[in-house]
Amino acid sequence: MVSIESFNFKGLKAIVRVDFNVPIDREQGEAKVKDDTRIRSSLPTIRKVLGDGGSVILVSHLGRPDGKKDDKYSLKPVHLHLQELLGQKVAFAPHCSGGEVKAMADALRPSEVMLLENIRYCPEEEGKPVFPEGCDSAKKEKIREQTVREQKRFAAILAGYADIYVNDAFGTAHRAHATTSVIADYYPNGRKMFGKLMRRELKALDRVMDKADHPYTAIIGGAKVSDKLDVMRNLLDRVDNLIIGGGMAYTFIKALGGSVGDSLCEDDKLDTALSLLEKARSKWVRVLLPVDSVNGREFKVDTEAETTCAHEIPDGWRGFDIGSRSVEMFREVILSSKTVLWNGPMGVFEFDNFAKGTVDIARAVAEASDNGAYSVVGGGDSVAAVNRFNLTEKISYVSTGGGAMLEYMEGKILPGIYAIRGY
Ligand code: AMP
Repeated sequence: MVSIESFNFKGLKAIVRVDFNVPIDREQGEAKVKDDTRIRSSLPTIRKVLGDGGSVILVSHLGRPDGKKDDKYSLKPVHLHLQELLGQKVAFAPHCSGGEVKAMADALRPSEVMLLENIRYCPEEEGKPVFPEGCDSAKKEKIREQTVREQKRFAAILAGYADIYVNDAFGTAHRAHATTSVIADYYPNGRKMFGKLMRRELKALDRVMDKADHPYTAIIGGAKVSDKLDVMRNLLDRVDNLIIGGGMAYTFIKALGGSVGDSLCEDDKLDTALSLLEKARSKWVRVLLPVDSVNGREFKVDTEAETTCAHEIPDGWRGFDIGSRSVEMFREVILSSKTVLWNGPMGVFEFDNFAKGTVDIARAVAEASDNGAYSVVGGGDSVAAVNRFNLTEKISYVSTGGGAMLEYMEGKILPGIYAIRGY
């Protein structure tokens, strides 16, 4: 596998799959990029190609237009923002493929950049088969095969635009889409590579998956146990401590016989939660659950709030945050760790009166990093929390991938990564 650092792009065209799926503010007047973290993260790769004297064709999706052109998902605001960040003109192709786009790609000169319109306007990108009503299984198989053929053809057409394929879109690496994985089949090994962002992501995640210093603590939070069960299972083979917070903690507490009132709880996952705790015990992993809980009456900002023991939440109340005793316990473990991995908030941090647990844990992770621990934070909400409390600079690595990070940590092979390095 070639590395982008050692490759010389002089005189070559690179098609670079980026993840510009950023929040857009369309409320007043002109649509604007609300958070440009993902765009900024791709700049080192773009600048490397341009600096060598190569040219760049950028490809990204935005939202889920479902294979149809829809102005709501146009990359035009991203285009304007990118020009400002790069400080140079960027050509904008109004479609994602076709004669006009090919002509624009052909006309690109060294050190020039172009951006294609939202690649998910083309149904071939995702390659989802569409079955008419009443379709039998034989017909479905035919449609599936046809969809695969169309996706391959689409990928081949895009590959015809450029000499090199660079994948820098970690956020979509878990998707087997035309521009995240299929296109790689149309390039020999020496002509396809990861971008700089992708390399940084893989380095950080491989470190916490396989080369972590101990003691190693994973903090898993967020809404549902079912979303992160496989990640927790996989982490039990690696970590010394597993801290469970957020909405999912109440399923564990109920499984252990606690009363969780009207808190978020997946009753069909009680046995699974117990078997996870059993696995932890057999692996000598210490699992820490909240001991106290800040509860609210209703799911709204200004709801009445009170703190109780996490195992004794009265009916009519819902646990929305971890309490101060839980923070103290979790903090102590985090500060004694050499590796910390965090995914998922400790509570409904979007509401100020239930944000304290998440803020305090974010601070503890930042402090542990200051003391020399290696820390990785990932998942949309925990990253948003770290950003909101201005702690990003203190964390060793903040991942740009939510779903992709979780799947990687589950131990799954991601199509976007496999397509380039073969594992
Ligand atoms: P996830 O995407 O699984 O990381 O979940 C993030 C979401 O979980 C956030 O929107 C939080 O508001 C929500 N969340 C965290 N803790 C709780 C809780 N105790 N009750 C309800 N929702 C929660």
